[in-house]
Amino acid sequence: MEPAVVCNNQSNGDDIIRWFEDVSENAELVQTQTLRRILELNWGVEYLKKWLGDVEINEVDECALESLYTSLVPLVSHADLEPYIQRIANGDSAPLLTQQPMTTLSLSSGTTEGRQKYVPFTRHSAQTTLQIFRLAAAYRSRVYPTREGGKILEFIYSSKQFKTRGGLTAGTATTHYYASQEFKIKQETTKSFTCSPEEVISSRDNKQATYCHLLLGLFFSDHVEFITSTFAYSIVQSFVTFEELWRDLCIDIRDGSLSKRINLPKVRKAVLDIISPNPKLASKIEAACKELEDLDWFGLVPKLWPNAKYVYSIMTGSMQPYLKKLRRYAADVPLVSAEYGSTESWIGVNVDPCLPPEDVTFAVVPTFSYFEFIPLYRHKQDCNVAVDDFIEDKPVPLSQVKVGQQYEIVLTTFTGLYRYRLGDVVEVAGFHRGTPKLNFICRRKLILTVNIDKNTEKDLQMVVERGSQLLSKSRAELIDFTSHADVVNQPGHYIIYWEIKGDVEDMVLGECCREMDASFVDHGYVVSRRSNSIGPLELRIVEKGTFKKILEYFIGNGSALSQFKTPRCTSNNVLLSILNLCTIKRVYSTAYA
Ligand code: AMP
Repeated sequence: MEPAVVCNNQSNGDDIIRWFEDVSENAELVQTQTLRRILELNWGVEYLKKWLGDVEINEVDECALESLYTSLVPLVSHADLEPYIQRIANGDSAPLLTQQPMTTLSLSSGTTEGRQKYVPFTRHSAQTTLQIFRLAAAYRSRVYPTREGGKILEFIYSSKQFKTRGGLTAGTATTHYYASQEFKIKQETTKSFTCSPEEVISSRDNKQATYCHLLLGLFFSDHVEFITSTFAYSIVQSFVTFEELWRDLCIDIRDGSLSKRINLPKVRKAVLDIISPNPKLASKIEAACKELEDLDWFGLVPKLWPNAKYVYSIMTGSMQPYLKKLRRYAADVPLVSAEYGSTESWIGVNVDPCLPPEDVTFAVVPTFSYFEFIPLYRHKQDCNVAVDDFIEDKPVPLSQVKVGQQYEIVLTTFTGLYRYRLGDVVEVAGFHRGTPKLNFICRRKLILTVNIDKNTEKDLQMVVERGSQLLSKSRAELIDFTSHADVVNQPGHYIIYWEIKGDVEDMVLGECCREMDASFVDHGYVVSRRSNSIGPLELRIVEKGTFKKILEYFIGNGSALSQFKTPRCTSNNVLLSILNLCTIKRVYSTAYA
């Protein structure tokens, strides 16, 4: 069986769904074949030789191969493979991780683990991207059919591709994808074209690109079939920008001109070649915006893009906090949560696009990689345990996962990662035929800890959700948040930073802060708060635009806008100094007083 169904112009949505139903039905067998395929393709590379020696894999039967492989090759993290990847980046052309020479490396986002990592990227990576996009599109079109030849308003951004010391091309996985054949093939086979030309997507100036995406999206407003971005954050940010700039956009639509803020010659030419004066459309948009302003932009999507069938983006995990705002913009236009994957490998597809993002699960695609799952158990509520986030059990193959159990995902990929711990925690929600459907829970790493307390990103999100509900009393809303565990001052305490829209009385902020402090249910935290070995939670309100500054800081350091996820906890000194300089108010919790 092929590891990936490579694009085929003739195949339509039904073909790819039939293919997926088939591999899901036989997921156990497909996984064994996938592992064999990966090992055959990369047989004899330095890394595998080190662990497998001279074992003749062709002579080992399928079941034995899986247990042989998992007993001889260790579980690793990125740090363990870094020396190999670094040698590749420096130009060592010996077969280290893959037999095929590596020509490209991807940068995984620096905002999940605090720094950027190189990850191998091959043609297979772009092919699986195309494949999962086509598969997901096929499932979506069953529920929300779109018109052939329609347009997609895509808030997408490629970042810089550069050469490593050894001459390999490096950049983010999305950048490689947008530059690949596969991206063009996707548009042709799905017969839906992005509103913006290539020059805008690859302009590398995110502000200018956002303006152009909005302008072209409005210019083609009647033809836009759906609105999308990689992460929901980008759509929200773009509409926030729209709230500020709609008047300028209307001028450009009326006159067929382009604002002076777009100063990149290639981008100017590409956009001006597309647009032409359209006073009627400009007046329509202007009238709509005046109405929308009175409604605090509720229903912006259906008002401006009347034919949009849905909004499609990653809305799970750390994107969940943006849902509320996105829902306001989308009103009755459905929000469809996009697929689950990482720079290392695609993982699962949303086969139930009509489910609300909160309930979405991802059916693992068993041809993409060989997947293992490390069972994770929370510590019993005993505050004396060592500070580790979970207790682990032995990894199990995909066919042995259990519904309701949480796991960390381990990948063996076609791109040369062997038993690689991804660091994501997922929960098995059920099965799609024979393949598990996963709920994304959080990044594994603990984020907030002062002493014996252990709070994950998910815990923080729930707490912030509860605290921010009280903001509705003041008709204000939370724009973004992050946190920091202050262990310098004794007793240590949590600081949560909020950027809010609207005026909020100090008394309400005090209630929000108290509510958050009281909502951390982790036993270590509760015990420490009661004994005052952790001090009262501090809520710091930052001025408007602070999180935009943070985004700009990351982009300035080489992160891609399409990959950006606001770090929900930070100890980064630059970030902390931005946050602290922008702090306009401090409130302390009175819980546990
Ligand atoms: P990157 O390091 O930029 O490749 O980002 C990959 C990470 O983003 C994954 O390991 C997840 O933690 C997160 N991620 C990707 N897709 C989703 C999704 N659909 N839902 C939640 N988190 C996701």
